Amino acid sequence: MTKLHHTPVLVVGAGIMGTGIAQVAAQAGHPVMLHDTRDGAAAAAKTKLASTLQGLVAKGKLAADAADATLARITPTDVLQDAAGAGLVVEAIVEDLAAKRHLLQRLEGIVAPTCVLATNTSSISVTAIANGLQHPGRLVGMHFFNPVPLMKLVEVVSGLHTEASVAEAIHTLAKAWGKVPVHTRSTPGFIVNRIARPYYAETLALLLEQAATPAVIDACLRGAGFRMGPCELMDLIGHDTNFAVTNSVYDANFQDKRYMPSLVQREMVDGGLLGRKSGRGFYRYPDGAPALPVAVLEAPNTAREVTVHGEGAIADLLETAATQALAGQGWGPARLRSTGWTGLVIDGAHLVMSTGRTAGELAAELRTQQVAVFDRIVALPAAPGTALAYAVNEGANPNWRTQAAAWLAALGFAPLPVADTPGLVVARTLAMLINEAADAVLQGVCTPEGADAAMKLGVNYPAGPFEWLARWNETEVVRLLDTLDNHYRGERYRVSPWLRRRAIKETA
Ligand code: NAD
Repeated sequence: MTKLHHTPVLVVGAGIMGTGIAQVAAQAGHPVMLHDTRDGAAAAAKTKLASTLQGLVAKGKLAADAADATLARITPTDVLQDAAGAGLVVEAIVEDLAAKRHLLQRLEGIVAPTCVLATNTSSISVTAIANGLQHPGRLVGMHFFNPVPLMKLVEVVSGLHTEASVAEAIHTLAKAWGKVPVHTRSTPGFIVNRIARPYYAETLALLLEQAATPAVIDACLRGAGFRMGPCELMDLIGHDTNFAVTNSVYDANFQDKRYMPSLVQREMVDGGLLGRKSGRGFYRYPDGAPALPVAVLEAPNTAREVTVHGEGAIADLLETAATQALAGQGWGPARLRSTGWTGLVIDGAHLVMSTGRTAGELAAELRTQQVAVFDRIVALPAAPGTALAYAVNEGANPNWRTQAAAWLAALGFAPLPVADTPGLVVARTLAMLINEAADAVLQGVCTPEGADAAMKLGVNYPAGPFEWLARWNETEVVRLLDTLDNHYRGERYRVSPWLRRRAIKETA
């Protein structure tokens, strides 16, 4: 069994990631050597780290002696041969296969055969990096997230060569460093960068068809609990970086159309609209997202008959809200649990939570023009004024157009009109995140628990994809994805066999 407790660590690459990794290893008590090919870069990184730690001490977040001890454990070196005694090497050099292979092959001539080699690559196959090593079984991915000292997640990536005991030793070590390690296999994007693709892709698809503005999409997904909407997040990450990751996952999957990058993003990158760093992306900076126009909403008209449809937590919430909304009229809504959909019927007009069918499709099916759909309600109980996308059937009369929004407002939401697209904003985004996570599990990339932990800790999602699924159900998610698939054709909305199998079991 490989043991790495307190072993000397060599960190190669004194850039943003390498410096963070050196800090975390030193804080955990390891003697750390920090090496970079740029003359003086490792020493400069240590000086910079000293001032960062000093700042933490000044703010009372770190004891002065702990800061001193951490720094004392870090030795910058411009000479790779100094690493001979290392028990673990973590490389965080340039993201280039040839450079990484060359470095690690060279290191094999310096360190002992028992020394574990870890790569912090975010997109290169760990199996490919190991190819050509004398002892390829000792190479493992140790994928940290930026900023390393703050982000808890470490993806422990096993390639085809990686020995299980080596992956296990890194898993144990990451825990000792205060991180939450998750096992994954060397596949494009590993867990986080793969499962997160639809968060951007669905937004870019909506923007391409002018279904909603960036500010509206951001508000809706923030309403679903995400800390940042996809547009503000892409502006922060940088469209060049985000586009490069999307392209890399797309190419690595033999250009599977499911991962196809968006014209919207390419145009922005080509035009130098890179986001915050260039002063303009979806928004202009320093201003950021513009305030949404203030909607003037009417109060619901006096109704004669209101029925809440559906079962489960969302329908319960709607019933409570409708009861409150009708309290002034001295009566409450009826409840029908078994109609197979969630929403309200108000004097014959339908207000339906999205199942993927558009308001237009539902209107044709129900043979009534007065239909509106609203987005999936995720955060329960919904905070008052939570943004919620909705779309009204094109043939609806003016009264229902205003009343649909009035009712959503009376139920406690801030209704935001969007085009009548299948799955609106939140429902389709969550369904696609779940679908991608399901495929990752199907392909042995991670476990459902691993996917949930990775998405919550690696990209701060408010819940993991399998947690969302547990509050939804397989049959409805599959139905929504099939509707999207039927609507758009192409491979993007292809249902994961993992999900479809479970949906079949659920209905059997
Ligand atoms: P960076 O450009 O900040 O730092 C890379 C450092 O490596 C530079 O100081 C460079 O001089 C040095 N270097 C290059 N070739 C070298 C060699 N052969 N030997 C020694 N030093 C060498 O880059 P970064 O953002 O810290 O990324 C480093 C690695 O971590 C990459 O593989 C990247 O994909 C991965 N990563 C980055 C992030 C991120 O958010 N930046 C997150 C996770 C993983």
